[in-house]
Amino acid sequence: MSTPINRRDFLKLAGMLPLSFATPRLLRTLGTPPQQGHSRNVIVIVFDAWSALNISLYGYQRNTTPNINRLAKRAIRYHNHYAGGDFTSPGTSTLLTGVLPWTSRAMQGNAEVVDYYETRNIFGAFKDHYRIAYTHNKWAGTLLRQFQSEIDELIPTEKLLLGSYDKIIASLFRKDEDLSSVSWARNMRIKDGGYAYSLFLSHIYKALQEEKIKDIEPLFPRGLPTNSSDNGFTLEDATAYITERLGSISQPFIGYFHFMPPHYPYHTSKEFTDAFLHDGYIPLEKPRDLFAREEDKNLPLKRRLYDEYILYCDKEFGRLYDILERTGVLDNTWLILTSDHGEIFERAFSGHNIDALYEPVIRIPLMIFEPGRETGMDVHQTTSAVDILPTLAHVTGKEVPEWAEGVILPPYSAAQQIPDRSIHVVRAAKVKKYDPITIGTLIQVRENYKLHYYFGHPETPGDGLVRLFDLNADPEEMNDLAAVKRETAAELLNELKTSLKQADAPYQK
Ligand SMILES: [Zn+2]
Repeated sequence: MSTPINRRDFLKLAGMLPLSFATPRLLRTLGTPPQQGHSRNVIVIVFDAWSALNISLYGYQRNTTPNINRLAKRAIRYHNHYAGGDFTSPGTSTLLTGVLPWTSRAMQGNAEVVDYYETRNIFGAFKDHYRIAYTHNKWAGTLLRQFQSEIDELIPTEKLLLGSYDKIIASLFRKDEDLSSVSWARNMRIKDGGYAYSLFLSHIYKALQEEKIKDIEPLFPRGLPTNSSDNGFTLEDATAYITERLGSISQPFIGYFHFMPPHYPYHTSKEFTDAFLHDGYIPLEKPRDLFAREEDKNLPLKRRLYDEYILYCDKEFGRLYDILERTGVLDNTWLILTSDHGEIFERAFSGHNIDALYEPVIRIPLMIFEPGRETGMDVHQTTSAVDILPTLAHVTGKEVPEWAEGVILPPYSAAQQIPDRSIHVVRAAKVKKYDPITIGTLIQVRENYKLHYYFGHPETPGDGLVRLFDLNADPEEMNDLAAVKRETAAELLNELKTSLKQADAPYQK
């Protein structure tokens, strides 16, 4: 007697097939062969809250990225890359739209962009591609949902979360408006021995889920990776599902995959738990900052837990890369590795979404893996998240969209050199979307100088506060030059205020 649905079929159906089952051969078979002569697929991988300052490839003393170090030998490695903001909404919107938060107005927590960018974004720029996206992060999910008309397959967040019935529902029924699915969903929940539409199936699903979590929990002694409001997830699940989908969908495609780790809570896997416990690393002591809210004595511990979580991201990225390479996907695909913003453990700050924009909060990794490229390259010029959209458009043979604020990155720009320009980072989390920015923190980086401009904060009454650092001479931002190099500070501030005025022009009352 044959079983109508076996465990493997079910796991596959529900997108929970462990990686060991998703063999390269399966992916090969399912995949559409690459089009000759066109390296047109794009995959963007975002690890959330991932500071460039904690990555060994960029000079961090702890070896947090052994796999990436190995793979990046073939990558373009951008060493001075800045996020558009200091937390998910401004950071992710910058990457996706190619404009800064003061333009898209996605400056607040869980923000959307102004309507104009609903279709003007990375998905809208790749209309001839199959567009697929996923995120664990709810605030990034808000943006992806806003862009849904330009996305062919928006994988529901719940699909790659563990332990909720909603995951099963979402994976089996994608259309919310399907009333039959709603009633099916209701009936699938077994409550107090109540009626279930299919007792058989609902029991199977429940047992499978429980079994899975029971098996997985011991692998994460600090708790399952989570976005804080769910029951957890694993990157292994995400890798398995995404590589399987990428082997199945039509080409060319563009995939945007935004994972929560190494964002807090720092729940690394067993393999990396305490990996840096006795390594003797002592971070540089820095003075408590004016904007620090509380004395944080556990910064070295938090930093270590974060660094150990990065090891988990590094391992999974390595595995993801190896699968994509083995299955031939990378032969025809531009792979981008980056983040939405950084994370800080100094000056009595821990985390991100803070008023002081020191380097660890806004400097993020950027690596571009070009199809067929065997030798790496280091780019030390200052670059911004706004540059990714124009660069990807350019390298895949498209016109750079007229709305994009960034430039085509070296080595892909014809000039080979980024034009002389300033990079901006925008924090205006307390400003209403359609109001002028009267309270916030803005950063302008021009050549070796970085200007911090704080205004409207209770801590900075009057004209606000300006800090100036020479990043070449003082990468740790220890010597404020604002009072020493007054002319440079004034010139940079003037330029910054002009840019702000332009961005705010539509919102002046
Ligand atoms: Zn984030």
